[in-house]
Amino acid sequence: MRVLKGTGANPGKAVASVWKYIKANTVNEKRIIADPASEQERFMTALSEVKASLTGTAQVLRDQQNEKGAEIIEIQLMMLEDSNWAGEVQNLISSERVNAEYAVCLTAERIAETFKNHESQYLRERGNDILNIADAITAGLSGQNGQKVPDTPFIVFAAELSPEDIARMDITMLKGIVTEKGSPLSHMALLAGSLDIPCITGLEQGIDSICSGDTVVIDGREGTVALEPDESLRIEAEKEMTDRSAARRADISDEMIAKCPVKLYANIGSISDADRALKDGAQGIGLFRTELLYMDRDDMPDEEEQYGIYRAVLEKMQGRPVIIRTIDIGADKEARCVSIPKEANPALGTRGIRISFADPALFRTQLKALLRSAMHGDLRVMYPMITSAEEIDDIRKAVDAAADELKNEGREFRIPPQGIMIETPAAALISDELAGRVDFFSVGTNDLTQYTLALDRTSSTLGRYYKPHHPAIRELIRISAANAHRNGIPIGICGELGSDPDMLQEWLDMGIDEISMSSPKIRRTAAELRRIADGMKDDGRITAPADGKLIPMEQIPDEAFAQGLLGDCIGIDPDNGNIYAPCTGVITKVARTKHALGVRAADGREFIIHIGIDTVRLDGKGFTCTLRENDRIRRGEKIMEFDPDVIREAGLSPIVIIAKLP
Ligand code: PEP
Ligand code: MG
Repeated sequence: MRVLKGTGANPGKAVASVWKYIKANTVNEKRIIADPASEQERFMTALSEVKASLTGTAQVLRDQQNEKGAEIIEIQLMMLEDSNWAGEVQNLISSERVNAEYAVCLTAERIAETFKNHESQYLRERGNDILNIADAITAGLSGQNGQKVPDTPFIVFAAELSPEDIARMDITMLKGIVTEKGSPLSHMALLAGSLDIPCITGLEQGIDSICSGDTVVIDGREGTVALEPDESLRIEAEKEMTDRSAARRADISDEMIAKCPVKLYANIGSISDADRALKDGAQGIGLFRTELLYMDRDDMPDEEEQYGIYRAVLEKMQGRPVIIRTIDIGADKEARCVSIPKEANPALGTRGIRISFADPALFRTQLKALLRSAMHGDLRVMYPMITSAEEIDDIRKAVDAAADELKNEGREFRIPPQGIMIETPAAALISDELAGRVDFFSVGTNDLTQYTLALDRTSSTLGRYYKPHHPAIRELIRISAANAHRNGIPIGICGELGSDPDMLQEWLDMGIDEISMSSPKIRRTAAELRRIADGMKDDGRITAPADGKLIPMEQIPDEAFAQGLLGDCIGIDPDNGNIYAPCTGVITKVARTKHALGVRAADGREFIIHIGIDTVRLDGKGFTCTLRENDRIRRGEKIMEFDPDVIREAGLSPIVIIAKLP
């Protein structure tokens, strides 16, 4: 087995045969032509073929309710239509009497040139988009769109790929994507993400040593391509593909998602993403990237516009939690309506919360819209790129000022829970102090990786240094989780690493409360969690919640339990006042009087632990339990204490009962 290395651009394993996609080698040299009118017609025909192919793919994606994928294709379509470059190409053909291929390339290169040296990776990628579109048109002009696309499962290998190229493939047969060039930020990689197809960019050794028809295993997380893969690796990849497609076929119901030991939320950027999130079973929104509202426009969204959007998302989510993050422009995310000083290292410059502090009016407008929208659902506001406790104090002041303004204006509003992103090593290392000042944490692993490994997240050349599983990053997350829980606040993960199948067990061990991801990954992640839970069943015995003498069900001195009305149960005459977790899972209920607990195991089985008979009458006297609903527990850990003597002195029986709910 030989392994080639690239950069993981979308995680997941796949096994299938290689299909090498050779781009049409078009002849784009300048030729003087005799008949400009028919040359223009040739161009218009090729242009409409590309448009038709993109429109068809966008429709297929919409039919599959893949809004994100459809939007990516539609952006390409918009570039074709909006940039008015078709007109420029036609002018060139008629004024210079040149061939269409030459006119297309020259016009595209001129436009791309304006993006080429842009600092922003995002805009450089848009320049590439234009060149890709030109490629697709010249291929059509030369009649070279004919490379037959496989109708059996395949992994495409190419020097470079554009969304247009993918649009020409049968996406039901496309199992993986590997390219020599390109970055994980390209539209092609984003499209792969929305289709949930493993993807690798920047294959270091190139694709020359790979032949069409070879069977390979690719790993889109590690960025590896295994040639002549071992039997075990093939089986593993096949299993993962089956799990992935089973999850896509919605074998995982919303009810199963509800039983997962961590909450599964969606990352969104628009109102329509919220619809998709609901269809995909999201239990909430873990990250609404509001910067997308500021992008691609000349004016800033005002308070009313923002309020309308936030309210719409909250209403769509029908009471589920919605975490909206304040603007996180800067570095790779550009918005021309927000002015940011030119800096040598924009990723280390004015971005994230620093933008909000630099432009108090922008911040106040967004906060006011958020505070007003909080009246319409379970809103939680989150702040990006935090590095110090003082920043949180300044945020609180800004929130109070926004609230004062709303009060003076006589508006209805509410100050919602507020949390921060842990995406700088500084925030992770002082997370104990920060946790005392906020209501929740959410780990941004994309930036945490960038800042911990000193690695530009948009670089397409540093692939070998991109190691999101680096022990330093895991340690920072572990520290943050421990500090969050020590301070009684929940912690989620909203970066890409959150839904990485290989990390889920570790998140369970750390007690991560919520994972947020692009919504097509939710059912797959739930399937993965179920697989982990199934694995736990072997050693996931249900153990006695107390030390003492076993009492068979029918001898329990309470009719309801003895007759199994609350499910099969056993009693324990306790030796002491300790109650231990009978399984690894979550607390589903803590009685107000603390004499009873509900527990759900990782595999979904539910139990009641009831301490004593008729002990509800003690109204909590003698019981100590600091756990709350949704707290995670590990089998064998002490989860509460009680005083058997207090129960006996009240003339009651201290028998501990554990019942499995039917
Ligand atoms: C992150 O940094 O992991 C994150 C979720 O934020 P963004 O990708 O929007 O920077
Ligand atoms: Mg971030």
